[in-house]
Amino acid sequence: MPSYKLEYIWLDGYQPVPNLRGKTRIAHEEPKSVADLPEWGFDGSSTLQADGSDSDCVLKPVGLYPDGGRENAFIVMCEVMLPSGEPHPSNFRATIIDDPDAWFGFEQEYFMMQGGRPLGFPEFGFPGPQGKYYCGVGYQNVGNVARKIVDEHLDLCLTAGINHEGINGEVAKGQWEFQIFAKGSCKAADDIWVARYLLERLCEKYEISIEYHCKPIKGDWNGSGMHANFSTQFMREKGGKEYFLKLMDAFEKNRDEHIAAYGPDNHLRLTGLHETQSIDKFSWGIADRGASIRVPHSFIKNGHKGYLEDRRPNAQGDPYKIAARILKTIDEVPTA
Ligand code: ADP
Ligand code: MN
Ligand code: MN
Ligand code: MN
Repeated sequence: MPSYKLEYIWLDGYQPVPNLRGKTRIAHEEPKSVADLPEWGFDGSSTLQADGSDSDCVLKPVGLYPDGGRENAFIVMCEVMLPSGEPHPSNFRATIIDDPDAWFGFEQEYFMMQGGRPLGFPEFGFPGPQGKYYCGVGYQNVGNVARKIVDEHLDLCLTAGINHEGINGEVAKGQWEFQIFAKGSCKAADDIWVARYLLERLCEKYEISIEYHCKPIKGDWNGSGMHANFSTQFMREKGGKEYFLKLMDAFEKNRDEHIAAYGPDNHLRLTGLHETQSIDKFSWGIADRGASIRVPHSFIKNGHKGYLEDRRPNAQGDPYKIAARILKTIDEVPTA
């Protein structure tokens, strides 16, 4: 009978951007669901989550994912709890309003980096300007390693049961995107963190690191976002213009709270250029990629029903904080 390798992963206490941590637990029976997974612990004094004098933090499993990168293995996504059973202050997953009928689709952009610069950038100076890299093909546009990595990553995510909707080369050289969609208020965010983990672990062997910062290269190079597409059952089934306008008023009123949840340094990316609205403005627009919130054509055609795209979250944002803020604002708007 084989032994099973369970990689318990969690978010540490670093701010504003937490890091992924993981350690392996050996089990002698194959886990079939989260219910089969015991809680575990770690030394929070090494992750900015506890003092040395009282260092134990609890790992509470919330998701089980087959791990295609190891034999007989699984990834176990965990939340961090205090020994009292309360959520740890670094646990933003616990702040998400529970709504099994909320749906999220995140579009995660990122740069692959080698030698301190984006993959494919020369040691000195710059590659040719943006234009041909987006969804591009050919060695001159994508080099000879990047596609191998994104394909391997895609297979790892599909094996893990993560609902990828697609992948594409992005506007800047060395920049890529994947999209994940899931139903439930936490699931897509859980899946983004697991997909990030798989990507970073995969890239170790290529000596490539992943840069999620929203504006890693100054100048005329796109930054990295993580557009958040969202809908609730009410938005999909009832909706209507009046509700939509009230919802947009609530988003406008909470602009600062949303920006605070949408990833650090966003003023460097939300400038009004490169398909963004500037950080100090709020706007919505039909099919408008220069708006804070893009309203798909289908939304209007269906009588103001469907999903909306908040274009402001950045690639380094914590999808737990993003989902929590969006659902909180939605919750403030009466549906009657
Ligand atoms: P674009 O790059 O044009 O903004 P993408 O195709 O990359 O569009 O992303 C659109 C996202 O919207 C996808 O991740 C998709 O899953 C998500 N989406 C589609 N329908 C819904 C819905 N009803 N609720 C929430 N998200 C949705
Ligand atoms: Mn996209
Ligand atoms: Mn994109
Ligand atoms: Mn988008």
